[in-house]
Amino acid sequence: MVKSSHSIEKRILSIILMALFSGCFIFAQKEGKPLVLQEMTWTDVRDYLKTSDMVIIPIGATEQHGPHLPLGTDYYEAMGMSKKISARTGVVVAPVILAGYSVYHSGFHGTLSLKPETLEQVLFETAEMLIKYGFRRFMFFNYHGGNRVAESKVIHRINHTTEAVAVAIGIGAPFKRSEEKIEGVLDDQHAGIYETSIMLYLKPELVKMERAKKPEFNLTPRMRELYMLSEENPGLMAVLNSLKGVPVETKKGGASHEISSNGIWSSGDPKRATKERGERIVKNMVDGAVKFIEVWKKAEK
Ligand SMILES: [Zn+2]
Repeated sequence: MVKSSHSIEKRILSIILMALFSGCFIFAQKEGKPLVLQEMTWTDVRDYLKTSDMVIIPIGATEQHGPHLPLGTDYYEAMGMSKKISARTGVVVAPVILAGYSVYHSGFHGTLSLKPETLEQVLFETAEMLIKYGFRRFMFFNYHGGNRVAESKVIHRINHTTEAVAVAIGIGAPFKRSEEKIEGVLDDQHAGIYETSIMLYLKPELVKMERAKKPEFNLTPRMRELYMLSEENPGLMAVLNSLKGVPVETKKGGASHEISSNGIWSSGDPKRATKERGERIVKNMVDGAVKFIEVWKKAEK
């Protein structure tokens, strides 16, 4: 009896070890070098297409991110995470555009913006070129909320008018896991603790921490009333959110410089940002996308 229960335990242990080992194998692929289209030759691309038809297109923005983060923050985030995904999956990254839809941030200097239809058109024409060479599986890694509409439209257009398939793997990904909460902070949407942490991890040389400062908020009376009423009627948050992050011309008082004194949208202090938190946020995003890509590769070999 003792002997047989030992052998059962041994078998169970070996099954657990095998499961753990194969699980680790999936998630701990060797991190190679990222493949970036602009750094490849045309023969490299031809040879790559003999082994894969996948491509990642990062979409970011060039827009103000408070007095302490660079205008290119969303681009560096989208590009930085796309490169990490590429290094672990071998999928090529093809950056095509540095600006996004950000006109509601243009009260602060240096912000660039393209209309959603322009952005969609540029992304679609670029995809058409890639389709010509044999790319068939498109993944858009967007890291700017203002681009969500253009991203959805280009994905729909690729899926409905070409042979290729397109999906979102960034903030619009259906498999995206929620970020860790920050204690005592209700809202941290833009250039706050999350984004400062990510940049401290990805591009610390561009972060001017000594300038990071909690903003003064200026919500209109209409916004304040909706906010109060939303405590009992959460559905009203959708109305409140549609008033914020809109161009100054709409006269809703919701442009970035009307709401925030320095361009940061956070109820927390950006000085609480840490490189370690940034690393965890990036790892969460990258792990989700890597897992998705590996499963998709197997599903459609
Ligand atoms: Zn951002």
